[in-house]
Amino acid sequence: MKTTVFVSRKIPRAGIDILEEAGMAVEVNPEDRVLTAEELMVGCRGKDGLLCLLTDTIDRAFLKKMSQLKGIANMAVGYNNIDVNAAAERGIPVSNTPGVLTEAAADLTWALLVATARRLSEAERYLRAGEFTGWGPLLFLGGDLPGRTLGIIGAGRIGTAVGVRSQGFRMKIIYTDPNRNMVLEEELDGRRVELDTLLAQSDFITLHVPLTEETRHLIGSRELRRMKKTAYLINTSRGPVVDEEALVEALQSGEIAGAGLDVFEKEPHIHPGLLSLPSAVLLPHIGSATIETRTRMAEMAARNLVAMMKGERPPDCVNL
Ligand code: NAD
Repeated sequence: MKTTVFVSRKIPRAGIDILEEAGMAVEVNPEDRVLTAEELMVGCRGKDGLLCLLTDTIDRAFLKKMSQLKGIANMAVGYNNIDVNAAAERGIPVSNTPGVLTEAAADLTWALLVATARRLSEAERYLRAGEFTGWGPLLFLGGDLPGRTLGIIGAGRIGTAVGVRSQGFRMKIIYTDPNRNMVLEEELDGRRVELDTLLAQSDFITLHVPLTEETRHLIGSRELRRMKKTAYLINTSRGPVVDEEALVEALQSGEIAGAGLDVFEKEPHIHPGLLSLPSAVLLPHIGSATIETRTRMAEMAARNLVAMMKGERPPDCVNL
């Protein structure tokens, strides 16, 4: 009997090849859209393994019904979409894809930070609308980067890579993380501070924490009030890390200068307040979206699933 696996959405071919070369019968969701909970269940019924995405909710109820699964490979570094403890209770290993997307996510974060400070989206919309009548001394003035302070919340792989990029712009680094980060401190002259100090001193705040019960709404109205009026908030981590309602109010009242967001609290729904705010630069969750990175993520997820299907501990296990 062949091992059977379900892939919840079309992914780069290299990932499917790895599964097939390992002798597995692979079924891929033929439609290029997120499956409903019911459809995902139908796809997984009777299968040994699942390769899923951050848009699939794998909760306790799902796992109870799909307890025949011998492994779940998430094609993302964040795994807040999976109840990993409930999976562990059933002996189901779960894996993620750390590292292979760090540079792409940091590049996108940096592009978003610059776009927010220099009002790129707003300026392009103006030009495309035919409103550009010539250079102007006060046209689309933004904020400087050199000499300013970058506050990194969550100094793991991506937070560190963002810190590295800030050096080309001669920025000062402060960060907050339960662990010390020697790359930021020793190589980039960064300083570890308490969250409240970071909020008060930063000109740019960039979020790189995983979404957990502890980090949900880590940035709410209290934290936004502590930020400088001239500061910008950049979020490429997970939407619910920021209280979006509070962010809209802070932007509307001018409590902060702007926000650059790649992720949203109720994705793919976007708060209408954000859509109408020119000081917000909004992207459709494309942090890791390069051809090379998504290929590496698909390969890594597939290799993890192959290990799980052989009864081995996957190299990137997050729960057992
Ligand atoms: P990582 O585990 O290397 O880093 C996370 C860091 O956050 C760790 O150093 C951890 O100690 C720290 N942290 C945890 N709780 C904290 C808290 N309360 N306050 C401060 N720091 C805290 O993870 P990574 O590879 O850098 O990825 C970070 C996150 O980025 C992922 O979990 C994922 O959700 C998100 N991500 C988004 C995209 C995108 O497409 N926008 C792409 C990749 C990753």
